[in-house]
Amino acid sequence: MSYRETNPQQEEKHGRAFLRAVRNGTLRLYAPKKRWTDMLKACRLCGHAFETVGHVLNHCRSHARLWHDDIQNRLTHAIAGNTPGARVVSVNQRVKDVGGSPLRPDIVIDQSDGSRLLVDVTVPVEHVNDAFRTRASFDKARRTKIDKYRCVADALSARGVRTRVEALIVGALGTWDSKNAPVLRQLGLVSDDLRDVLCRRTVTWARRIYDRHLKMGATCN
Ligand SMILES: [Zn+2]
Repeated sequence: MSYRETNPQQEEKHGRAFLRAVRNGTLRLYAPKKRWTDMLKACRLCGHAFETVGHVLNHCRSHARLWHDDIQNRLTHAIAGNTPGARVVSVNQRVKDVGGSPLRPDIVIDQSDGSRLLVDVTVPVEHVNDAFRTRASFDKARRTKIDKYRCVADALSARGVRTRVEALIVGALGTWDSKNAPVLRQLGLVSDDLRDVLCRRTVTWARRIYDRHLKMGATCN
């Protein structure tokens, strides 16, 4: 499944309708946002968790990494095309010279000042109608990513390559994390266009994954 935008206006309209259904709890899932527990059922595809919107968009192994890779590639493209002096060293590969660490940061960039930046993309699902909990989950996702790759950065720094870790967070329902701004500035990407493109694409992906989920479920039954 690749990202192809056939009709941007139509995509936007469908995206808005999808987000409305998420907010109103009217998605055709086995575990919509309702209080009575007899509505909760396991995911129709993997059976490993309740079929919530969070599970379908972010955890169901049937749709793993679809949009993550798209956002990662879009960001890589923007860095390669717009950041003078920066060079994308690797994308989703193990880092050399760090003692065989199995970790694969999304994007490794050599910057013009000789330092290195590891950027990892994450797409957590927002808490619907709850900005406070969404803020907390974004902060937690950012901390988790930075902690995860700290050992790689420390190993590179110990070898004389000053290395930092940053996370880029885009909510699965199109919420932009304001704490991405300094990350993009470090990459020389200051335009709002990239933010708008990434948010729009995540919503399109969310809707497509939901449609795909229902379609695959219908085929299984
Ligand atoms: Zn599932």
